[in-house]
Amino acid sequence: MLELMTILNEYGKVVNIFIQYFWNNPEKVSKGELLKPIVDIPETWLSARLRKVAAREAIDMINAAKVRWKDKAVKPIHKGNRMYVSCTIADLVPTKNNAYKTEESRLFDAWLHIASVGNKMIMDLPIKYHKHFNKYSNIGKRLNSYIITKNYVQFSFEIITMPKKEGLKCIGVDTGINALASLNNGNQYGKDIKGCIERIKRCKHKSKGYYVAKRALKQRIDETAKEIIKIEDPDLIVVEQLKNMGHKSKLKARLSKNIRASIGTWNWKYWLKRLEMQCELNRVSFRTVSPYYTSTTCPACGLTNRRNRNGEMFLCLNCGHEDNADINAGKNILNRFLTGLYGARYKQENQENLVVTNFL
Ligand SMILES: [Zn+2]
Repeated sequence: MLELMTILNEYGKVVNIFIQYFWNNPEKVSKGELLKPIVDIPETWLSARLRKVAAREAIDMINAAKVRWKDKAVKPIHKGNRMYVSCTIADLVPTKNNAYKTEESRLFDAWLHIASVGNKMIMDLPIKYHKHFNKYSNIGKRLNSYIITKNYVQFSFEIITMPKKEGLKCIGVDTGINALASLNNGNQYGKDIKGCIERIKRCKHKSKGYYVAKRALKQRIDETAKEIIKIEDPDLIVVEQLKNMGHKSKLKARLSKNIRASIGTWNWKYWLKRLEMQCELNRVSFRTVSPYYTSTTCPACGLTNRRNRNGEMFLCLNCGHEDNADINAGKNILNRFLTGLYGARYKQENQENLVVTNFL
């Protein structure tokens, strides 16, 4: 795999040269027509095709930084750790219809063949399909684009889904540590998540037990996402948006107590992704709302006060409304979506109906 490292390093170097160039000459940014003089700027043995790929990635990285940080954007740096290739230079060749049936190729499912790397190099990366590969192959269309890193190749699939269900059962889902999911209707799922997380914390960092415990947590997250869809059979799920994890956000203040220290943003992200995917596979609509104050607002009278919440208990200082704090947050999340104050409205003509069947 020495070759792969060499190629990735060179690729990273070239991307950075392009970043430097486009950063200083923003008027030259145009992905459609990468003019030959620009593609020829870096002194490198990479092929013209790969240089083009690198130039496009440089433009993508600059754009992403500008979208994310606006005028505070700093020039991004490619670390030479990954490469994004598409069908223009890469092709996946299953070993079973491969001409060279070597002993080695029997151990793998396919080769990722990359032509025209440059320097007369051809790269063949041995691929062993992950169990998910077969699953997604059955339900989706594999796209001919790959992310290559020094340790693995990432595939992309386009999942072809049926039109979304049109029923009216909406559920609001709050994410927490006492239960991974607390629903507006009072049901809770993944109540053992706290145990899973504590188990990880007890293990020595990066020990064998640590990885076993982490895998167990991921599995519980996967199962919980499936359980909710199966048992609740909803038509639409609303969750809190996960964003603005940077400084100053109110979300951070809340998370530092509830989630940040316990579930961790990474697990939360993973959880939302799994839930979204289960929705996608089951034709359930998936929506997000702004996360602010969902845990401290009273769904009965509307008062928002931090002292409404006391640990796992919600008790409104104004009207005395009482509830489990997480379930209460689930109600607020759904309510926020239905009333459309912050989130998108959903089938306004049915709104009343929705409130009656789902809320409080
Ligand atoms: Zn109240």
